[in-house]
Amino acid sequence: MAAFADRTYIDLSVASKPGWALGCDKCRYGLVNPPPVTVADTSTYLVRTYQAANDRLTFCDCQAGQAYRHYLRGRYADIKAGRDNVPPDMSRALTEAVTMPTLNGEYVR
Ligand SMILES: [Zn+2]
Repeated sequence: MAAFADRTYIDLSVASKPGWALGCDKCRYGLVNPPPVTVADTSTYLVRTYQAANDRLTFCDCQAGQAYRHYLRGRYADIKAGRDNVPPDMSRALTEAVTMPTLNGEYVR
């Protein structure tokens, strides 16, 4: 029987935040100058998913950016295929939020 001293422990503070996922000096978590997430009553990943699907995000060419692009593409495919439950009215609101320009002509959401 193994004693506690024989066990291998992982450093959770490192394991939960792999360095590459933080991005590089050109980006933040793989996104270059990302628009804010300001759609009410929904999740950050959903807003980012719709922003990505509507070409509102600039992904970095580093590992974080490519991983984030791949992840969001998968989330959007799941939504479109009905594998992720996003109610139609929320889907419409998210689409409008990320496709509607502001008074300054910028897409802020
Ligand atoms: Zn980067």
